Amino acid sequence: MSELTERLQRTQNLSDEELMLLIEGGDDQEDLRRRADAVRREHYGTDVYTRGLIEFTNYCRNDCYYCGIRRSNTAAKRYRLSEEEILACCAQGYELDFRTFVLQGGEDGYFTDDRICSIVTKIRERYPDCAITLSLGEKERESLRRFRDAGANRYLLRHETADDEHYKKLHPAQLSLAHRKECLWNLKELGYQVGSGFMVGSPYQTTQNLVSDLRFLQELQPDMIGIGPYLTHKETPFREFPNGSMEQTLHMISILRLMFPYALLPATTALGTIHPRGREMGLQAGANVVMPNLSPTGVRKLYQLYENKICTGDEAAECRSCLSRRVASVGYQIVTDVGDVKRS
Ligand code: SAH
Repeated sequence: MSELTERLQRTQNLSDEELMLLIEGGDDQEDLRRRADAVRREHYGTDVYTRGLIEFTNYCRNDCYYCGIRRSNTAAKRYRLSEEEILACCAQGYELDFRTFVLQGGEDGYFTDDRICSIVTKIRERYPDCAITLSLGEKERESLRRFRDAGANRYLLRHETADDEHYKKLHPAQLSLAHRKECLWNLKELGYQVGSGFMVGSPYQTTQNLVSDLRFLQELQPDMIGIGPYLTHKETPFREFPNGSMEQTLHMISILRLMFPYALLPATTALGTIHPRGREMGLQAGANVVMPNLSPTGVRKLYQLYENKICTGDEAAECRSCLSRRVASVGYQIVTDVGDVKRS
């Protein structure tokens, strides 16, 4: 049975009912995976883009129920990198052939717009040939405009779930899906390349919710779509909920590849955490980006969104060579490239 898969590949669309069926495994899964890989090869060959992830602060004013660095987790040891440390990560990253730097963190009031602009300006001056990606959570339009003017050109902000009711089950009342979406639209208007996405298997998630995620992404048409399994963290209110599944995450990556042939789809750290070869399987299911860690080894364990995060003991250089081997083991290759989206 591959009728739905074949039609999704041909038209990049299906009805809600058909998507539900497909998500729930109604078609031949191996055929879906093979088609997703073929579509990925059509658009990106066997190239895999890298992004150097710099987790620069784990202070956060928010209290998302799933996240290990939520404000109420008093067990978390907090850290923030200095501007010099961040620039040192970039220098090392550039030497290691990274051409995109991703600054990700909690929503940390210490990093005012001025401080972010100062950091972005310096990275932009030193590395004119690199993309600067920010992933700082929800910011006002004026702040986003200033970061853009300073030289940032990409922003990652997962919508987390596109269903209002589900959003409320994952976040405290101060946070709203409407505001998160507004940020995403502002980012698009300001000319950022935008990444969004969601967790797979998050608490209370239904198949209908996943259809809503796909519909929202069709509206937004982001450049990158990052998904990974929900992974539990014992210092959160969701400690009793099980992890999302690798199989469902791989399945969703393939569906995303057929619906968004042009998209940048990362094989995420969460996928590598749930299975030792999760990222490799992610690539085989249609992903074409990996995001190894460039943070100083000393702080990696502290940026603990979920438990058992991989690569926390490795130096950046080890991560790079380990990942090159892993990518090559499934027939793709890491390229030294800024890795822009290829919209045809
Ligand atoms: N503060 C930023 C960065 C968040 S961390 C922001 O708000 O965008 C990046 C992503 O990690 C989140 O968007 C979320 O989808 C994911 N994440 C957080 N907790 C997680 C968990 N327990 N399991 C899996 N993914 C998680």
